[in-house]
Amino acid sequence: AKQLASRVTTLSPSTTLAITAKAKEMKESGIDVIGLGAGEPDYNTPEPILDAAWRSMKEGKTKYTPSGGLPALKDAVIGKLERDQGLTYTRTEIMIGIGAKHVLYTLFQTILDPMDEVIIPAPYWVSYPEQVKLAGGVPVVVQATAEAEFKVTANQIEEVITSKTKALILNSPGNPTGMVYTEEELKAIAEVCEARDIWIISDEIYEKLVYGTTKHISIATLSEDAKKRTLIINGVSKSHSMTGWRIGYIAGDEAIVKAMTNLASHSTSNPVTTSQYAAIEAYNGSQDAVEMMRNSFSSRLERIYPQIQAIPGFHTVKPQGAFYLLPDVSEAMKHTGFQNVDAFAKALLEEANVAVIPGSGFGSEETIRLSYATSIELLEEAVRRIDQFVKSKW
Ligand code: PLP
Repeated sequence: AKQLASRVTTLSPSTTLAITAKAKEMKESGIDVIGLGAGEPDYNTPEPILDAAWRSMKEGKTKYTPSGGLPALKDAVIGKLERDQGLTYTRTEIMIGIGAKHVLYTLFQTILDPMDEVIIPAPYWVSYPEQVKLAGGVPVVVQATAEAEFKVTANQIEEVITSKTKALILNSPGNPTGMVYTEEELKAIAEVCEARDIWIISDEIYEKLVYGTTKHISIATLSEDAKKRTLIINGVSKSHSMTGWRIGYIAGDEAIVKAMTNLASHSTSNPVTTSQYAAIEAYNGSQDAVEMMRNSFSSRLERIYPQIQAIPGFHTVKPQGAFYLLPDVSEAMKHTGFQNVDAFAKALLEEANVAVIPGSGFGSEETIRLSYATSIELLEEAVRRIDQFVKSKW
């Protein structure tokens, strides 16, 4: 019989994971590789959160929970949304899932019929188009340029809306761009979405990581209508350094949340119980560790950004959030004889022993992504190696 369903044969493998696997293999064979590929904070989960998890297990809280998450965790999320964003939700408008990634997966399975279109600004997070396709939908990519700070405009969005458009994905602060949309930009986008009646999926996973005078604004806060049509996606992975715990949530339309919860009841049963107790502490406890990590990413950015800019042929828009740099390396490639960013990233790994992610997987053919969620010492050594690599081939 035929081995694979067509739904998986059209999947593109994650470029991020491919490079990370290769780097790991090289490391294991004794090569001193610096990995700037990872999309996670380099800190351990804060102590009080670990303690809460441990306590819950000792108390025997090791069984199934309701499919959409523990009521106490929903309340903690509701408290967080009220405190940080001034947004009011009820328990029926919240679902807890197994990381923001699987919440998004469940969302697309819930709202997309075959051929429904979802607008995705590029450069985008690799999983958006694949998840849309897995749900039978059609990703409609809108290109944002470096000149426009990697942000799309309301006009660009309006131009691609059709009768099939179901939703727009917004990711601010963005991965891989690090860009943050302003209130004015979001207002214009919200107006288009209202006029054309489409859902706004607002992926706010990097909400806590904004630097300098930049403020994170959720599009849901801009009007009554914007709140109704926005589905907020967030979680503890990046804010509380909890990537491995796999806790994310959606806040928004009650009917969608209810259908997603039904779907989860047949696919996951519930998010990991221990992780849910940890996440309650993450949201209800002290937020000092969140601020400490933010400050540390901010000072690493200030140190490393000028050094990256100084590499010949690298042109980088200074990010305002998240923990990625996205230099346009087209000029460097031209002078060093590389045809595309995949070949450039491969050579950087093999010859300079620095792992970066080629932008091709993000819908950004001229860029590479570097994560600065690693120590200053390693960052500076990585920049030195990249600089030497480029100069030696120039
Ligand atoms: N959204 C974006 C933009 C991300 O970069 C990531 C993680 O890399 C996620 C969602 C998923 O986060 P989680 O660990 O909660 O699944």
